[in-house]
Amino acid sequence: MEKKFHIETYGCQMNVHDSEKISGILSGLGYSSTPDESLADVILINTCSVREKAAQKVFTRLGQLKSYKKGKPGLMIGVCGCLAQQERDLFFKGRPYVDLVFGPKNIGELPSLLETLQSERRQLMAHSGPRQEPTFEVETVLRNSSVKAYITIMEGCDKFCSFCVVPFLRGREISRNPHSILEEARHLSDRGFVEICLLGQNVNSYTYENFDFADLLCSLNEIQGIRRIRYTSPHPSDITEKVMDLYGALPKLCTNLHLPLQAGSNDVLHRMKRDYNRETYLSKVEYLRRRCPEIAISSDIIVGFPGETGADFEQTMDIVRQVEYANVYSFKYSPRPHTAALKLVDNVPEEEKSARLRALQDLQKEIQHRLNVSLIGTTQEVLAESSSKKGEELLTGRTFCNRVVNFPGSDTKIGDFVSLTIEKATANSLFGAPLQS
Ligand code: SAM
Ligand code: SF4
Repeated sequence: MEKKFHIETYGCQMNVHDSEKISGILSGLGYSSTPDESLADVILINTCSVREKAAQKVFTRLGQLKSYKKGKPGLMIGVCGCLAQQERDLFFKGRPYVDLVFGPKNIGELPSLLETLQSERRQLMAHSGPRQEPTFEVETVLRNSSVKAYITIMEGCDKFCSFCVVPFLRGREISRNPHSILEEARHLSDRGFVEICLLGQNVNSYTYENFDFADLLCSLNEIQGIRRIRYTSPHPSDITEKVMDLYGALPKLCTNLHLPLQAGSNDVLHRMKRDYNRETYLSKVEYLRRRCPEIAISSDIIVGFPGETGADFEQTMDIVRQVEYANVYSFKYSPRPHTAALKLVDNVPEEEKSARLRALQDLQKEIQHRLNVSLIGTTQEVLAESSSKKGEELLTGRTFCNRVVNFPGSDTKIGDFVSLTIEKATANSLFGAPLQS
């Protein structure tokens, strides 16, 4: 009987793409994917450790999976990703049903780990040192989409922002050989993919033998068949004029940019070790808007960082009002192991953190709604990506500047580019009608 695997993914796009690589490896070993965990011979949880809440969820979920072992002694349960790299053998303590724990850089070892597991039936663990080469290339990647694809261009982070656990888990920055990146992009284009999204914790510090991030974008722009290029995440202090000058000039570079602010107060930014201040951040936004007025900027913001006063928080709200982000991912500060901020007193009360988060999200919703409504009546080119959850016979896709649009799709195939007139808008999405020809 065909062997099956079930994989659950928490966290960022890096994790989503790691799961695509793991799925590719498992399919190469003869496993097929199942959304039903009760049918699986291998269950993997790809974990995130960026915030405490995401980490707790994993332990709860593991407890739920335990029962499947009773009826199926051959079932293998594994934990991978950042929390696996962080907690390592803690996953085995009191959990004899967990068979395998491996970190993000150990993905390539999965075939040998599974083989050992099958022959020896003992708990197995693989983790990496900070400078270990990551698994940039795997033979097959089982992608979630047939039209847009992630490409890892670098791994790790050298920034050590004081709140962030990532550098301790994903290690030091290592950039991938550009030949290998370009080859992957060409291969994707040959298989019909039209959009790529470059991934890394700090993509604009990408550098490989004097070939920098802007050079990489320009080279990818030359690949026929690829029509859209996106990337995430850049660090505001590392985004160079050379990269900013490409907006509006490099035809395939999408006009959206995720530029994580984290906080609007210079005192808080300093304690976060973000190495920019509100003035330099805003001057980059202004520069980008001069180069490309239609650019849609999104952000990550943390509220309630140690020592954040009401006046500090107002500085964050002020930047949100000034920049008018297209989207904001906002979080309450969560103390993480190893990080420098652990030495600061987490002194903003939980209710205050929640109140600030609500105020920020309410403001952002209002801004997003206004920005989206201003697009009503415009024509947008949308890539049809999948069927829409908003209704039968509707498809969903994104504009060049990354806004979600739902539209009637009876005449459209997934992968088509369609011109739509925007008719309706909410804070989170648009509704478009095909242009009458
Ligand atoms: N490299 C990206 C950058 O420079 O902004 C961020 C990557 S991090 C995985 C994603 C987001 O999680 C961060 O931008 C930050 O807003 C949030 N985050 C990270 N650590 C956090 C913490 N300890 N508490 C709350 N949010 C956190
Ligand atoms: Fe974390 Fe800062 Fe690196 Fe982003 S740049 S991954 S927030 S340490």
